[in-house]
Amino acid sequence: MKAKKSLGQNFLQDQAVIHGIIQLIHPQAGESIIEIGPGQGAITDHLQASGAQLRLIELDRDLIPQLQQRYATADNVQIDHMDALQLVLSGEPVKVVGNLPYNISSPLLIRLLYQAAHIHSAVFMLQKEVVQRVCAEPGDKTFGRLSVMLQHRFDCSAHLDIPPTAFIPQPKVDSQILLLTPKTKPTDLPLPALEQLVKQAFAMRRKTIRNNLKKGVSNEQLAQVGIDPGQRAETISLAQYEQLVLLLNA
Ligand code: SAM
Repeated sequence: MKAKKSLGQNFLQDQAVIHGIIQLIHPQAGESIIEIGPGQGAITDHLQASGAQLRLIELDRDLIPQLQQRYATADNVQIDHMDALQLVLSGEPVKVVGNLPYNISSPLLIRLLYQAAHIHSAVFMLQKEVVQRVCAEPGDKTFGRLSVMLQHRFDCSAHLDIPPTAFIPQPKVDSQILLLTPKTKPTDLPLPALEQLVKQAFAMRRKTIRNNLKKGVSNEQLAQVGIDPGQRAETISLAQYEQLVLLLNA
């Protein structure tokens, strides 16, 4: 079957890489795992063999019969033909994993962030640049919206370095694995308010925070959480963004 570029289809073929990902997922018999974009089953086969209860979310209708056939005799696999961007989690925390289509990675990460209470951990293969952005520290050039949002709710770490040769067809970029584990005690704040604030804060990277936030935040409020109005958004810490949200929504 020809890979569909529009669905971000780059199928894993490197067994060493697949094993590296499986080690990070560490699937256990009986636990619930959701795999986004199982494709032709490169990762799925190992998840299924572990005895975990698997839910596969695949958007490509042409892949559904293949997957149904491949796991026809497996009683631990449920296949859902749907868009992962519509996924609604509920109940006990589950592992969410996937070699994600790169075109939906940022919106999907944000969507899952809102459902973090139902996530045990997440292991995603993504474009390396995106993983680096998520895991960046204040002061790094890549520290931005995704870093603040995801680090607010998850411990984030980058693993493995995966070259384009691990896939068929080969993508143009390097990949990495992002491991997300929900924080046990995240700062309690309204997530949409944090999302709105960082959207504004990082709107114009060359501008100072005073300029980017001039519509809703005074210099005094910035000073109250230890932010110099002349700072740029990427030099402000997660804790300061969180404190600012709490101050503005008190
Ligand atoms: N897991 C397989 C592997 O590693 O070889 C396939 C990975 S491929 C990068 C991404 C997969 O996600 C494809 O199977 C694609 O059809 C599927 N996909 C793309 N957009 C999707 C969406 N919005 N929801 C669910 N699956 C999607």
